[in-house]
Amino acid sequence: VAPSFTPAVVNGAHKHTNQPMGLEKRSVAIIGAGVSGLAACKHLLERGCRPVVFEAGDAVGGVWPSAMEGTRLQAPRHMYRYSDFPWPDSVTEMFPNQRQVADYLHAYARRFDVLDCVRLGHRVTGMEYVGVAEEEVAAWDEWAGCGEAFGSGDGEWRLTVADAEGHIEVHTVDFVILCTGRFSNCPNIPKFPPGRGPEAFDGKVIHSMDYSKMGSEKAKEMIKDKCVTVVGYGNSALDIANECANINGMEKPCTMVVRTKQWIIPNFYAWGINISNFYLTRFAELLIHKPGEGFLLSILATVLTPLVLQHVSILYNS
Ligand SMILES: Cc1cc2nc3c(=O)[nH]c(=O)nc-3n(C[C@H](O)[C@H](O)[C@H](O)COP(=O)(O)OP(=O)(O)OC[C@H]3O[C@@H](n4cnc5c(N)ncnc54)[C@H](O)[C@@H]3O)c2cc1C
Repeated sequence: VAPSFTPAVVNGAHKHTNQPMGLEKRSVAIIGAGVSGLAACKHLLERGCRPVVFEAGDAVGGVWPSAMEGTRLQAPRHMYRYSDFPWPDSVTEMFPNQRQVADYLHAYARRFDVLDCVRLGHRVTGMEYVGVAEEEVAAWDEWAGCGEAFGSGDGEWRLTVADAEGHIEVHTVDFVILCTGRFSNCPNIPKFPPGRGPEAFDGKVIHSMDYSKMGSEKAKEMIKDKCVTVVGYGNSALDIANECANINGMEKPCTMVVRTKQWIIPNFYAWGINISNFYLTRFAELLIHKPGEGFLLSILATVLTPLVLQHVSILYNS
């Protein structure tokens, strides 16, 4: 269902006045329909605004619908949930799997009518702020010169959006919320000297992102009875190594090439307290200075600084 958002044509008649306008009259685009984009959309809908959410993929949920089958949450499920939407009773696992997380996010989007705002298969390929001279923008200390989201109303964002068939649309909106995530569609592949990259190896080389996209069955087929080497020691590396172990067992153990040794600590205690309570809860917000914080919050953040340092040093040493 197309959202009630009017795509403006380039040079279009999307004119503003300097009168203050309610959020319901503002056009807002959200880029990305992962955890963040879905929440942003839900909260805007609650305030009477009807945003459009452009999602390049073919499902809501961001990284989760296409994550590997073996991937599970690393945080316990009570720490990975929307505060206004509990996990369903059917999910009893402490660390739900990829499918359960994807279903949970889809259910959230359905429950709060976010799905109606999402345009799947629409990738934003460019955006520019028009209507305000570049020199004026360059002179701003704060956004729009006043720190206000919608500024004076003179400027607007022009988004270029490509659909799955390659059709290009231009949309003009008052405000854009970027929810594009850190891990989507950007495989981190180092630059190798000529002739010393993947081409120097006779076997197949594949990035974990492409491995995930293959789908579980095809991926299992590819791994079966192969000698696999996993390069890296992050979450995806461990998930793939685990998958190899499950598929090939002891006969063909997988090798991990690890540059920096790290300890994997499932539950992390300091002074008898689970330290994740400090950084995985809203308590963490008190630990850091924020723009516009009041006197009390500023004092608190300063007083609590040793906790941050302690946490960083524990992680570093481990
Ligand atoms: C394998 C894996 C396991 C993880 N496990 C955990 C965990 O256990 N606990 C934890 O806290 N975090 C985990 N994370 C981190 C995870 O990224 C976040 O928890 C969360 O899902 C991020 O949500 P997001 O909405 O910010 O971004 P994403 O989920 O990345 O969503 C961004 C969305 O934006 C879309 N997009 C990007 N660019 C464009 C564009 N130009 N136009 C249109 N759409 C676009 C993408 O298609 C994507 O759907 C994991 C990540 C991965 C990859």
